[in-house]
Parts: sequence; structure tokens; C-alpha cells
Amino acid sequence: MSNVETRPAELRCGASPDGTAPTRTPRVEVLQARDVPLGGPRAMTVRRTLPQRARTLIGAWCFADHYGPDDVTRTGGMDVAPHPHTGLQTVSWLFGGEIEHRDSLGTHALVRPGELNLMTGGHGISHSEVSTPQTTVLHGVQLWVALPGEHRATGRAFAHHVPRPVRVDGAELRVFLGSLAGGTSPVRTFTPLLGAEITLDPRAVVPLAVDPAFEHGVLVDRGELRVAGTPLQRTRLGHVHPGITTLTLANDSGEPARAVLLGGPPFPEEIVMWWNFVGRSHEDIVRARADWEAHSDRFGAVRGYAGDRLPAPALPHVTITPRRNPPPRP
Ligand code: MN
Repeated sequence: MSNVETRPAELRCGASPDGTAPTRTPRVEVLQARDVPLGGPRAMTVRRTLPQRARTLIGAWCFADHYGPDDVTRTGGMDVAPHPHTGLQTVSWLFGGEIEHRDSLGTHALVRPGELNLMTGGHGISHSEVSTPQTTVLHGVQLWVALPGEHRATGRAFAHHVPRPVRVDGAELRVFLGSLAGGTSPVRTFTPLLGAEITLDPRAVVPLAVDPAFEHGVLVDRGELRVAGTPLQRTRLGHVHPGITTLTLANDSGEPARAVLLGGPPFPEEIVMWWNFVGRSHEDIVRARADWEAHSDRFGAVRGYAGDRLPAPALPHVTITPRRNPPPRP
């Protein structure tokens, strides 16, 4: 996925101040999504919950787009031309449909429901993403992970993993990154991280043992949940501060509910995000943009995509306004 905003803001994302001691009452903040057109002739729309003014990072998770279920005959599906990334990993996770991925490593992969596809941008990579002609309904999430400073210039990589579903009382989990409820992903991350799809049975109350050093995000895909007692409607992202050892998800309805659970320790570094780049300074962003525009080897080339690559938007003229996660409420 590419950030295709024509005037993307440059965000300076603060080191989180969440160093709080364990508490009995989890603090949950409800974050709303904003609609962002993905571009193309019919402009499929995604719902973006990260980054936003109230929250820029959850652990190392720095970007969260949620889309569908969309009838692709109406929306046109996904067609994101080759574009660059630096300083991050991309995570594609589908609930329905199929996406053809091509990148400058030479990877040509199909992204399917229940299968993790994780691309490490490192110093530089480029890729394209196109929903396949067989796809009638497209439904999923695209997530980005900020790389820590010591690894942000790492080499390009691509990983594919199909997690075995884990059954607990009241829910089925697919742990695609990290560990939860006895499920563990073998896929390497550069900071401790959790990513899981959770489907709750009707009327289920599911306590999950979690790492108290982690903050968590619960993105509701289907139905409505209570997250540690806080109601969370579909498309919303509930941010749960660190310091708890049990996170309880509840489904009060008579239908199944589904969410994606994200987690990780608060990211200790300040990052700068602009367009499809994560850096540490404005100069990092200017250099990455110039390298893409110069067709530098840094990002390589995508073979097999029918069409032109995405040009970088113009850099902002205004002084960059630092943005940080707000201080925790008492
Ligand atoms: Mn992308």
C-alpha cells in the first residue's frame, strides 16, 4: 500500500511517554478512522487510524489502513503502482480477496486471507499491489512497522507465513507476529511486536494474557466489541496503555465479531514520517524523495507491473510541526 495523499503531511512522531506502572484499570482510548482515497480511476477508499493527531504509534506500529469488505466491481479494487519505502516493514493481512504483490527484490507473491506477507523496506525497496481479476470482494488491513534506528538501513526482505489457528474458549486467533494465547509466529521483527486476528464467538468474553510492557491496539473489523470494558464500534481502533497483564475482549452480540490486535512496547525513538518514508530527520526524507525521483538503485525496480510508477508528491513548503503522542491521562 502506498500513502497516496497528494499533500502528505510530514509527521514527527514522538517517543511515547507511556512509562506507567501496572494498573488494575486499563486505560482505553477510542480512535476514529478517517477515509482516505487510495487513488486510481474509481478511487477505492481506506479507513486510516494510524497515524492521527491523537496517536502516532502503538509499539512500532506506525500506520494502519483498514478496507472493505468492498465490491471491487464498484470500487475498482486495489491498483497501487510501484512506489518506494524506507525505514519500515509493511504487513499485508486479508480477510477476503487476493492481491498480487511485486517488489524490487524480485518477489512475486499472492496475498491471501489468513496469510502474512511482511516486506522489509530497510534502506530502500519498491513494490506494487494489485487485486487479482478473480477478486470480487476485497477486505483487509495494511500495516506498517517502524524499524529501530540500528536496523533501519537493513537489507530488503520478504517473509510469508500462514499461522495455524489457535482455539481458546470463546475465540479463534491467528497470530501472525509475536506470541499470544499459545500461538507464536516465527517471522522476525526488529522490536518486540504482536499482531493477531481474533474472531470472537457470539456472547464470548475472552481474557487474554498480555505483556505488561506492551501497549495494544484493537482494530474492530466486524461487529462491536468491549475492550477492557470500553465499547468499540466497527472500524475504530482502541488504544490500550501498557501496564496490564490481562486484556479482556467481549462480544455482547449474537453474531461473531472480529478484530486485529496489535501490540509492542512504546517505541523509544522519535521518527519522521512523510509519504511512504520513515526517517529520523527532515533531511532523511528529502534524501529518500530525491533518490526515488532520480531512479536510484536504492529502491530498485519492480518488474511485471503494467503501468508507470508513482511519482513522489511535492515536499511541504511549511515548517514541519512536531507531533507527539499526547501525555497519558492520570
Ligand atoms: Mn507500499
